[in-house]
Amino acid sequence: MLPAIPGQAGPAAELIDGAPLAVVRVALDTPADDVFDYLAGPEVQPGELVTVPFGRRTLVGVAISRCTHSDVPADKLRSVAQRLDWLPPLGAHWIALAGFAARYYHRCLGEVMLPALPPALREADGWARLALRARSEHYRAAPGQGEALLAAVPPRARTVLALAQALVAAAGEGRAVSAAEARVLCSAAPSRLAEWTEAGWVISGRADQPLLGAPSAAEPSTAPPLHEEQRVAVEAIAQAKGFAPFLLHGVTGSGKTEVYLHAMADVLARDAQAQVLMLVPEINLTPQLQGRIASRFPHLPLAVLHSGLADQERTLQWLAAHRGEARIVLGTRLAVLASLPHLALIVVDEEHDTSYKQQEGLRYSARDLAVWRAKQLGAAVVLGSATPSMESWWRAEQGTYRKLVLRERAQTDATLPTVRLIDINQERQRQRALYEGLSVPLLNAIEARLQRGEQSLLFLNRRGYAPVLACDSCGWLSGCPRCSAYMVLHRPERRLRCHHCGLESPVPHHCPDCGNVDVAPLGRGTQRIEEALAARFPQARIARIDADSTRRKGSAQAMFDEVHAGEVDILVGTQMVAKGHDFQRVTLVGIVHPDAAMFSHDFRAAEHLFASLMQVAGRAGRAGLAGEVLIQTRYPDASALQALVRHDYDGFAATQLRERRQAGLPPFAYQVLVTADHAELERALAFLQSARNRADTCRMAPEVQLHDPVPMSMVRVANRERAQMLVESTSRIALQRFISEWVQTFGEALGDAKGVRWQLEIDPLRI
Ligand code: ADP
Ligand code: ZN
Ligand code: ZN
Repeated sequence: MLPAIPGQAGPAAELIDGAPLAVVRVALDTPADDVFDYLAGPEVQPGELVTVPFGRRTLVGVAISRCTHSDVPADKLRSVAQRLDWLPPLGAHWIALAGFAARYYHRCLGEVMLPALPPALREADGWARLALRARSEHYRAAPGQGEALLAAVPPRARTVLALAQALVAAAGEGRAVSAAEARVLCSAAPSRLAEWTEAGWVISGRADQPLLGAPSAAEPSTAPPLHEEQRVAVEAIAQAKGFAPFLLHGVTGSGKTEVYLHAMADVLARDAQAQVLMLVPEINLTPQLQGRIASRFPHLPLAVLHSGLADQERTLQWLAAHRGEARIVLGTRLAVLASLPHLALIVVDEEHDTSYKQQEGLRYSARDLAVWRAKQLGAAVVLGSATPSMESWWRAEQGTYRKLVLRERAQTDATLPTVRLIDINQERQRQRALYEGLSVPLLNAIEARLQRGEQSLLFLNRRGYAPVLACDSCGWLSGCPRCSAYMVLHRPERRLRCHHCGLESPVPHHCPDCGNVDVAPLGRGTQRIEEALAARFPQARIARIDADSTRRKGSAQAMFDEVHAGEVDILVGTQMVAKGHDFQRVTLVGIVHPDAAMFSHDFRAAEHLFASLMQVAGRAGRAGLAGEVLIQTRYPDASALQALVRHDYDGFAATQLRERRQAGLPPFAYQVLVTADHAELERALAFLQSARNRADTCRMAPEVQLHDPVPMSMVRVANRERAQMLVESTSRIALQRFISEWVQTFGEALGDAKGVRWQLEIDPLRI
C-alpha cells in the first residue's frame, strides 16, 4: 500500500450543488487505510492539522492535499471539524519525509505523521488545551509587577505558576509569551491572562520575539584551534555542494564534536535562517553537549527534543523547531522526524549506536532517515563514530559516503590507552583465585589508582546483584513464570525482577521446590561488584551508575557530576557509563565480563561487542594521564578482543566485511524480519507458515529468499510465545517490491491463526 501522492487531484471534478467538490485528504493515525477524504472550506491548506469525525470519535489528522474529486459518495462525505489555524502548515519536505518513511517501513502515512508530532498537538483534547483560534497577542509581566503577579498565583496551582514565571522571565529578557505558548503551559491561560491584564500585572501586545528561541545565557566559549585532520574535515564539509554524506571516523577523544561544531557554525553563519539538526543516541548525553553547544553559540536559539521531556516542554521545543525559531536542534532519534523548515545540515553522532533504531511501533532507523532527509534537501549529513556500523563503513569504502578520518586524540597530552587482556583460564592455572569475579591484576590496578588519587571505571553490562538465584540441593533456578528468562536478584531492594516483562516478587527465604534454605545468587551484576569492591577497598568512594541507581529524574546527571568533580574513586556501571562522557580523571577501565556476546547467534554480536568495548575503553586517559584498559576474558583469542588490543578498527571491519560477504549477510544483503506472537507457539508458527505459503502468489524476484519460520531464541516474553521468519535479498528494490505485495496477504494468513500479533521489521538490527 503506497501513500497517496500529495497534490494529485482526481481525473474529473464532481459537482455538489453546482459547485466543484472541495475535498481535503487527511492522514489519520489508523492502520486501516492511508488517507481519508473530508469536505473542507478553501481555508484548509495542505500541511495543516485538522480535527475530523471518525466513526464516533474525533481524531487529529494532517491535511495532505486538496482535490475536487472523491471516491466516497458525496452524501457520505463528512466535514473537517476544526483546523489548528495558528500553527504554520507542515512543509512539503516534511510531508515527503513522512511519505518515504511510510513506504519504506510499510506503514500508513498517519501512523508515521501523528506519532512524530508532540503530544499536545496530536490529540483532539490536547487542542482544547491549546489555542484554537488565531491569536497574535503576546504577553509579558508589566514592568515592576512581577512580584505582585507571582503572589497572585493560588497555592499549589502548578501550571498557573509556570505561566506566571514564564511571563516574569520573558519580561526580564525583553521577550514575550504568545497566547498559544501560554496555553501550552497552562490550560486556563486565556482567563488568567485576561484577569492579570485587567489587574495591570501583565501587558499584552504584538510581540516581535516569541517565548522560545531566546538566546541562552551560557558563558560564551571559543573554539580551540583545529588540528590538521580536523581542519581538513571541516573544510570538506564546508565546501560540499548539494547532498553530501560524510562518514567521520575518529577514535574516541579525537575531536569529532569539535568538527561538528565548526561545520555547524559555518552553515549557521552563511544563512541567517539555516537550521542544524544534531542527533545523539541517548538522553543522558544531551545535558553535557547542550552546555557545549550553548556556550559555543550563545546568540543562537537552541531547542532540545527527546522523550524524557515533559509533554508541555516537548511541545514548546517542537514548536520552536517547526517555526524556524530554533536554529540548532539537539535530540535523540525522534528528532529526526521533527519539522525543520530551514534544515541545512544534519549531524548523527555515534552513528553506529543501536539506540537510533526504534524497536516498537514504526521501527525506523533515525540514522537512515537522516541520510534520506539530507538527500531530499540537497544538504550535508555527517555520520560520526569511532566504530562505524558495517553498513556505513562499507558505503564509505565504496565511496558512496566520503570518509573523513581523525587518527589521534585531539588534546596534545592525551594518548590512546593501552589495552591488555587478562586470561581468566591462566589466572586459574596459576592458582590465583578470582575475588568475586575480579582477577588479581585488575584488583592491583584499582589499588594503584586509589594510591595515586586517580579514578577507575568498571564496566559490566548486567544490572542487578546476580542474574539468577539457585538452589544448591535440587537445582531450582529463579525462572520467570512468564518468560523464558531468569528473574534477576536485586539485593538492596530485596526483590527478584524479570528484566523482560517487569514481573517482581520478594526474594524467597527457602527453595520453593524443596524447602532448602541455601538459595544462593549465581553470577554477578553491578550491585554485587559494587558490594565486593566496597568490602575490598573500604576507604574508596564507590558509585554505581545503571538503570536502577538512576531511576529518579536528574539523578544520573547528579552522579555524573560527582564523578567529574572527582568525588568518586571507583565507578561501576553498565552501558550507561560507556557513551560519550568525557571523564578527565579516569585512568583505568576494567571490563569484567565481555564473554556472553561470544555465544550469540546474532551475526552482529561481534560488531556490537567491539563497538561497546571500544567506547568504554575510550573513557580512559583522556587528559594527560596515561590510560590503561584491562579486559578479563576466557577467550583471549577472539578477533574482536585482539583487534581492540591493537586499536585496529580498520582491520576488524575488514575481517567482518569479508565474513559477511562470504555468508551473504548485510551490508551485502538486505533483510526483513517478520515476527509473530501468540500464547501458543504453534499458532505463531502457523501464521508465519501460512504467510510463507502466500508468498507464492506474489511476484517474487529470484533474489528474494524466504527462510523457514523458527521460534525466537528467547521464545517466551510475558506469556507470549514468539516466532520469526527472515526474508533476505541482494536487491533492496526487489525486496521492497515483494514485501509491499506480500503484507497485503497477511490479513488472510491471520484468518488461519486467530489472535496472533505480527510485526514487520525492515533492516532489523537484532536477529
Ligand atoms: P570526540 O567527540 O571525538 O570524542 P571531542 O571533540 O569531545 O572528541 O574532543 C575531545 C577533547 O579534546 C575535548 O576535551 C575537546 O575540548 C578537546 N579538543 C578537541 N579538538 C581540539 C583541538 N583542536 N585542540 C585542543 N583540544 C581539542
Ligand atoms: Zn531446592
Ligand atoms: Zn518475565
